Formats: sequence, C-alpha cells, structure tokens
Amino acid sequence: MEKGLINTSIEYIKGVGPKRAELIAQELGIYTYGDLLVYFPFRYIDRSQFQTIQSLNNQMPYVQVKARLKQLQEVGGGRSKRLTGYFSDGSGMLEVVWFKGVQWVKDKLVLNKEYILFGKPSLFNNKINLAHPEIETPESFKKAGYAGIQPVYNVTEKLRKKYVTPRVLAKVTYQLIQKIEGNVSETLPDYLIKQLKLMPFGQALKNIHHPENFRMLERAQKRMKFEEFFHIQLKNLYLRARRKENYQGFIFANVGEAFNTFYKDKLPFELTGAQKKVIKEIRADLKVGKQMNRLLQGDVGSGKTMVALMAMLIAQDNGYQSAIMAPTEILATQHFNSLNEFLEGLPVKVELLTGSTKQAKRNEIDEGLMDGTIHILIGTHALLEDRVRFKNLGLVVIDEQHRFGVAQRAKMWQKNTLPPHVLVMTATPIPRSLTMTLYGDMDYSVIDELPPGRKPVKTYHLTDRNRLKLFGFIRKEIAKGQQIYIVYPLIEESQKLDLKDLMDGYESIVREFPLPDYRVSIVHGKMKPADKEYEMNRFVRGETQIMVATTVIEVGVNVPKASVMVIENAERFGLSQLHQLRGRVGRGADQSYCLLVTKSKLSKEADKRIGTMTETTDGFRVAEVDLEIRGPGDMDGTRQSGIDTLKIADIVRDEGVLNLARRTAEQVIHKDPSLERKENAPLKNIIRDKRKSKKIAWSDIL
Ligand code: ADP
Ligand code: MG
Repeated sequence: MEKGLINTSIEYIKGVGPKRAELIAQELGIYTYGDLLVYFPFRYIDRSQFQTIQSLNNQMPYVQVKARLKQLQEVGGGRSKRLTGYFSDGSGMLEVVWFKGVQWVKDKLVLNKEYILFGKPSLFNNKINLAHPEIETPESFKKAGYAGIQPVYNVTEKLRKKYVTPRVLAKVTYQLIQKIEGNVSETLPDYLIKQLKLMPFGQALKNIHHPENFRMLERAQKRMKFEEFFHIQLKNLYLRARRKENYQGFIFANVGEAFNTFYKDKLPFELTGAQKKVIKEIRADLKVGKQMNRLLQGDVGSGKTMVALMAMLIAQDNGYQSAIMAPTEILATQHFNSLNEFLEGLPVKVELLTGSTKQAKRNEIDEGLMDGTIHILIGTHALLEDRVRFKNLGLVVIDEQHRFGVAQRAKMWQKNTLPPHVLVMTATPIPRSLTMTLYGDMDYSVIDELPPGRKPVKTYHLTDRNRLKLFGFIRKEIAKGQQIYIVYPLIEESQKLDLKDLMDGYESIVREFPLPDYRVSIVHGKMKPADKEYEMNRFVRGETQIMVATTVIEVGVNVPKASVMVIENAERFGLSQLHQLRGRVGRGADQSYCLLVTKSKLSKEADKRIGTMTETTDGFRVAEVDLEIRGPGDMDGTRQSGIDTLKIADIVRDEGVLNLARRTAEQVIHKDPSLERKENAPLKNIIRDKRKSKKIAWSDIL
C-alpha cells in the first residue's frame, strides 16, 4: 500500500469525522488507516444464519430473525413507559420490548416493514421476547458490512458511552476495507505464497476484518499468524547469517593434552550420549574460524558444567583462556570448587573472582590473567569490569544466562581482539517454540538425557496442617544421614515481611530441631557475602543438617547429601523456580523428596503449578505448562524479542504455524543468506530499518 494511504487519518473514513477520530486515537492509539487495519477483531459473531421465531428458546446465547413489524404498543407512562413491538416471520409472533429511547424507536419503525433483529432471547410470562435488540433494515444490514460474519472489536468504556461501539467500529473497518481494496501490496514473494498455499495479503486483511465465511476467516488468520512469526524468524536467521559472515572467530584446531589427559585419566564418569553429542557440536563450531554463539539447554542436573569444562580444555589446548560467569557468588564458588576437584593434578590453573575477592588476591589474579598463567577464570558480574583483562581470552561460558542482560554479555565480547566464542547455558529449559523465538539467532544444543542412575525426586503437596508429619519425616531422614533444605520465598515487593517469615520459620525450626543433636544453617540475601558463604560451606561440608534459606540457593548449588527440599509458601513461587529448587536435591544416589507446603486454599493457577510439580519431573514439560499459564510476555527475556508485539499469533496455541514459519525462514536464508535474489526482494523490507528495534512495525509493511 502506498505510504500516503497508510498514513491517512481515520478521520476521513465515512462515519468517523474529526471528533470521533480524536476519541479513538486517545482511547485505542489508532490514528491512521494503517493502525486501524491491524486492529484485529478479538471474536466474530455468525450473522449469516437466521432463526425462525418458532425455533427460539431462551437457552440460545443470541438469535437473529428476519420478521415484519405487525403492531406497536405503548404501555404505561412516565418512568415505567415501555414499548412492545410484535414481529412475525410466518412461523410465529415475537415480542420485542424497549424500556429506553421509546420515542426514538417509535419514530424510526414502520409498520409492515421487514427488519433484522439480533439479540439475546429471554423468557417472560412464558413467552420468548427480545429486549433492546440490534435492529436493522435489510438494506442497512447489508451496508454495515456484517451481513455474514460480524467482527467484534475491543472498545473502552468511554468509547461505548460516546456510542463508538464494537458495531460502529465494524462499520468503520468495512468502509476502510472498501477504500483500500486493490491498494494493498503483497509482503511475501510469490513463490512462497504458492508453495505454502497462503492467502494473499490483501485478501487476508479483508477477511480478517470482514470474513466471507468461516473457512476464509481461518485462512486469513493463518496468513496473519504466519506473517508475524515469519518476520521474527526471518530476522533471527538473517542476523545469524550476518554474524557468521561478519564475525571472524578464533580457530581451535586441535584437541590436545589438556583435553585428552582429562578425558582418559580424570573424567569421573562416563559421559551421557547427549553430553557427547553437544561436545561434538561445540567442537565443530570452534574449528571453523567463526565466532561461536551457542545456547545450551538442559534440565537441572543434566551435566552442563562438564560440557563447559571440556570446551574450556579445548581452548587451553589451543593457547586460549576461558571464563565462566555465574549470577551468584555461591554458584561461582561452587563451580570453582568442583572444577578444581575435577582437574586435580592436571596443569590447569583455575581462579575465582567475585565482588568479595580481597585486594591482594585481585592483584595476583590480574597478573595471572595478563601473563597467561591462569587458564580458567570463574566469577560473578565482577568479570565484566574493565580492569579484568586477559592475555588471550578465547571462550566465555555464561551460566544461568537469564540473569544477565544482552549488554552484559556483549561486554565480554570486547575482552580480546576478536570476540571470544560464547557458550550460554540456561538454568531451566524453555519450550522449543520459545527458544526459537527468543534465541532464534543463536545456535542451539540440548542435553535431553540425565546421567544414569538418578532416581526421580518424589514430589508431594502438603498443607500447614501436615506440619507435625513433616517434622517427623525430616527427623527420620536426618537420622539416615541426609540433609534438608527449607526454602522461603523472597519477593522484591514484600522483602520485609518475607524476611520476617523466614526468621520466624528459622526460630521454629531451631526449637523443633535443637542442639546438640541438630544444627541449622541460615542463608538469605540480606547477609554479608562472607557470612553467607560461611553458612553455606558448613552445610556443604555436612556440619549442619538443615539449611533454612531464601531462593539465593536456587541456582546451581550442589550438595549430594541433601535429599529433602521443603518449600514453604510454595504457592508463591513460579513454576520454573519450583523446578529449579527441586533440582537442588536428587543429586546423589539416595531417594530424594520435594515437599511443597502451601496454605489449604489455592488459586486456580497456584493449584495448576503445584499439580504439575507433583505430576512430572521433566523440566521441558514443566516449562511448557509454565508458558501456558503465564504466556510468553511474562517469561524471562521476552522484552527484546518481539514476542510482545504479536497481535494475533500465540506461541502456545499456534505452534504449528510457528514451526512452518521457522522452516520456511530457514529455507529462504539457506538458499539466499543475504536476501539478494530478485524473487526475495519483498523480504528485504522485513529486514530493512528494523534491525535495531527487532519489532514488527505492522503498519510499515502494508
Ligand atoms: P546442571 O546441568 O544442572 O548444571 P551439573 O553440571 O551441576 O548440572 O551436574 C549435576 C551433577 O551431575 C554433578 O554432580 C555432575 O558432576 C554430575 N554429572 C555430570 N555429568 C555426569 C555423567 N555423565 N554421569 C554422572 N554424573 C554426571
Ligand atoms: Mg548448572
């Protein structure tokens, strides 16, 4: 469509005018033709069917009849004045009542004329009647443009009051569709429309507002959904192709001593098939001289750290340093300890850098990084600081990536002459549909297999009333030599209250489990890092049996003897958090338990979350339900993805269309990575100008 037409004010559409235009702009943000065209109906009413008066009953949600006005009767006076009309269609007589606007109706209606009545039937004095139906003449009905299927648009209260009803908007869009007919240009190349049997764009636009029939509506919706998904996917893949073209990367050609010695002599277990597969994928990336940008997903406990370690050993074999960045100090420390354990006796030097690293140690680390004696640096956000410089950084691993922003990740890119390879690991898996959309510009690996011999964690739902039983169970497990986590929520907005809950809980636990038989640790975000670490370490070493904590222990922490995870106020946690917490147990050989304690009355959503947790331990399944409940807009990292601009497509419901869009975008980019071929000219528009915002500017593509 020409720019001029898109940007024309809606004021010029018949039935709008300057006053209404201003109101609509204020209330709905619709200014132009372009804006209005992408203001899609949220539902449709079938007005293609007429019922006979005889067939009506008050169970019908709404009815439409075509009947002649036989008689008008005014009853009562003053405030209780009402008007009854008697309509006949040959099959029977229908009573229609008006309590308001009586005079207006009287003036308008003509005896013996045929009308189309649309409304909700109700039963009165044992007779079906319609109160205040929508009423049209057959001619006005046709002109209104919803003689078949009537679109229903969202309007605000204020619009309604000023008589800009969904019906009025339906008339307005009908006018607009007539106006632009023939002026809408196709957004996709011909060959794609043919190949995918898609409805042409102009026709889809028309049918989404004023469908010819329900089959056409379905095809129009599919076309529009495809449009939205395809734009995101095409952009993702185009960006990926551009990056591969533009960003040279270090070449790690060899697998040498560090890797091989570790593999032969130190690896404490057999790698799972999935781990081997992913290591292969990473090795392939590292050889080709392009920067790796790979997302690694795997359920909690699937062994992502080992994969990262082996990639870092490859870096070392090629003369490069590596860094792992973790979101919390506890987690960084844990990585540091476990890597040191794995690497014991090997000539690989690992250091830890966090906010609480002492000055003297910092200086030593600075030096070791610059002269290359440190091979692997583990740390928190502290790694991002400018003073952290490497001799030759070749690989950056980002653990639990959702805690880091894009800018922070980019900061690590600048720490060498070429950007280092990047391996990003997620805390909790997310469904493939979301991955494609959020991280579709990255390469993707998945560990879809847990190490053998793990017993699934048994998950139970308890309420406050089961507390004595719970304490008894904890006692029994401790007697067996197990350790227990008890976790309390800590949500930003109510930190004070939460902290009080935690401290109250801690006190009651200490009373219930007194010294000298029991020792209880406590960790929360308000403690000094050193105190936190001290307490955490006592628990890790088995000196305390119970750890009372907030979600600071959520990510990554590994204590094999901890086999019971009690989550207090579990209804207040999100699903992925619950799953993360559960992942803290079940890491050793013993049967583990996750006990979700809630109040007895739960909201529907909380009930679904708790139910899902007790039904499955599969992180991918948990993630799917999470996505269903929350919708993609609320999931981590959706802001910058374009998901929040989706108007009609739904990542959960429309997964089929999403997959089609992804496959199609893959084919297109595979054949024509820079979209230079003539037949792909329309696609250039999708990419052009929008690289920065990543947003779909719908009105630009008309
Ligand atoms: P996550 O993927 O959640 O980060 P980790 O890397 O912390 O998981 O691994 C969880 C535990 O499983 C660790 O104790 C790790 O040593 C162990 N592990 C990893 N891979 C294997 C394997 N192939 N066989 C047995 N244990 C493994
Ligand atoms: Mg981990």
